Amino acid sequence: MKFEAIERETVILDPNNNMERKSIPSEIRKDPLTGRTSRICHFMPLKWEKPDFDQLVAGTQEYCPFCPDKVMKVTPCFPEDIVPEGRMVLDDKVLFPNIAPYDSLGACATFSGQHFIPMTDIAPGHIVDAFRLAIQFFQRVEDMQHPESVYHLINWNYMPASGSSLIHPHLQVFASAYAPNLLHEELSCAKTYYQQQGTNYWDDLVNTEKAEGRRFLGRIGRTSWLTVYAPLGVAGDIIAVVDSAKCTLDLTAEDIEDLAQGLTNLMSAYDKMGVYNFNMNFFPGASGDDHARFHLVFSPRTFFNQALGTPDVGALRNLYNEGICMAFPEEINEKLKPEF
Ligand SMILES: [Zn+2]
Repeated sequence: MKFEAIERETVILDPNNNMERKSIPSEIRKDPLTGRTSRICHFMPLKWEKPDFDQLVAGTQEYCPFCPDKVMKVTPCFPEDIVPEGRMVLDDKVLFPNIAPYDSLGACATFSGQHFIPMTDIAPGHIVDAFRLAIQFFQRVEDMQHPESVYHLINWNYMPASGSSLIHPHLQVFASAYAPNLLHEELSCAKTYYQQQGTNYWDDLVNTEKAEGRRFLGRIGRTSWLTVYAPLGVAGDIIAVVDSAKCTLDLTAEDIEDLAQGLTNLMSAYDKMGVYNFNMNFFPGASGDDHARFHLVFSPRTFFNQALGTPDVGALRNLYNEGICMAFPEEINEKLKPEF
């Protein structure tokens, strides 16, 4: 496994130091599986100001379709052949069709009846129940042998900088025969890797990172947690790999608890840096894909300029899909490790 980095140096005449020559380092890193590149640059302190949450959240409850007084009235229902009871309910969590679908089997699932859950108040139990509800939905479409029951995907946009238009915590839940771009690319590269090496890429990644140590965070049950070598996120990305699991439906009840625990560990660590938004996606294979290994990726999100609402994704990332990370993933690892 090759962890390739191309070091770069920029020389400028520094206006803050009488126009003296100043050398600024940066690094282009290649993802060991796909070869996709990310830039490690800027080197700003990973420290952001959190907003006044009372002010941010004020008034958003009145029009929130996911709050308990509205969710059973204004959200759509599935047709009888998919979910006979219309919506799936687990305690105060509700799963219903996504009113703005991007595939034929899409749902939203709320985390609870609570409109705003601050990131550090998200308990493992919230995540366990929300994932369980989503997986019950996946199991139903699997049991009916629905043609889209191939990749069972959960996406989580938490708070506005992540792309969420609602404060109320919820998951995007969909099953599709078409893997989204990066998942498709990963699976395709992992298949080639498996054919050439005879081993599973993610198993090799976990073993290599565990031995190397600088990006390894720890183990919870049979989940391994690592900072990503060539991340997409400006404050790094974290991957959790589940031993032996190939697809989402391979996850056991213990796996879900372990993933939930690790995710709350990450939230606690990033909260200390002032981060309060994130994305989280499942990256599963299809059932029986020996080259796949279930993993999820957690990516903290922020604003580059909060007052202007400037997102942390600009042209370089949006149109070239080139990652920009403001610290070395090995240094980010040191900030996260106390939580593991
Ligand atoms: Zn709400």
